[in-house]
Amino acid sequence: MVEFSTKKESSFSILSDMTPAADHTKKIKINAEGINCYFGKVQALKNISFAMPEHSVIAIIGPSGCGKSTFLRSINRMHELVPESKITGSLTLDGSDIYAMDAVVVRKRIGMVFQKPNPFPTMSIFDNVAAGLRMNGVRDKKQLTEIVEKSLKQAALWNEVKDSLSKSGVSLSGGQQQRLCIARTLAVSPEVILMDEPASALDPISTAKIEELIYELKKEYTIAIVTHNMQQAARVSDYTAFFYMGELIEYDVTKKIFTVPAKKQTEDYITGRFG
Ligand code: ADP
Repeated sequence: MVEFSTKKESSFSILSDMTPAADHTKKIKINAEGINCYFGKVQALKNISFAMPEHSVIAIIGPSGCGKSTFLRSINRMHELVPESKITGSLTLDGSDIYAMDAVVVRKRIGMVFQKPNPFPTMSIFDNVAAGLRMNGVRDKKQLTEIVEKSLKQAALWNEVKDSLSKSGVSLSGGQQQRLCIARTLAVSPEVILMDEPASALDPISTAKIEELIYELKKEYTIAIVTHNMQQAARVSDYTAFFYMGELIEYDVTKKIFTVPAKKQTEDYITGRFG
């Protein structure tokens, strides 16, 4: 059962101003207020509230099991199919209640990239990228070709695959497959991209490519990324949220979180005292 209110978004509330990347005049894209999430008797999220400004990268960090993925998935309504899951609170996209929208529209506007690259195994590189477009009814070959090329370029994969678009998507390396999945997500023109540990299964060179890509993509998209890798959070994000045991302990400009965190728990985590 989903119990979401239609409460309107509040204003963006981070006041600290330590990095030029943080622009507090930005519009709020996603706003969470009082989110609680339960799987049966387990409460995975406890009263989570925070705003994600548009065209920013928001990193979600914290030890395993603290609710990072659960929070990310709640934005995309991915728990709806999980038996005995329940969410309460308010979650909005551009001020509109995500849980009152058509789920298909939500997933078009909010794309998701998973930890393990998951190209459709029976499809070519081209068809993998075109899959979402075709599902949305795009049939025109020229339009499909244009969007596939644009998405592969945006995902920094075009030069590597432009001569082998009919090859299977799973013939690519792990890092290329992840960029293919990002191209597939971009093809349907989402506004928000949720990334759940998108580089944790990749080698360092592929990881660096994904990080560069995230930096480029934030010019057009709002990106929330769950990562175990604190250096990665520090490198790619504008804002960082630290979760611990289902609670949001601290949320601030990334530079502040990693240099002068306000809470002792955050400091202990980022200095490796637990985790
Ligand atoms: P993290 O991403 O920080 O490692 P998760 O969000 O995956 O943590 O998990 C938070 C808590 O919710 C854990 O106790 C986990 O066991 C529980 N949980 C997550 N997904 C499910 C699920 N589908 N069914 C039951 N419990 C779940």
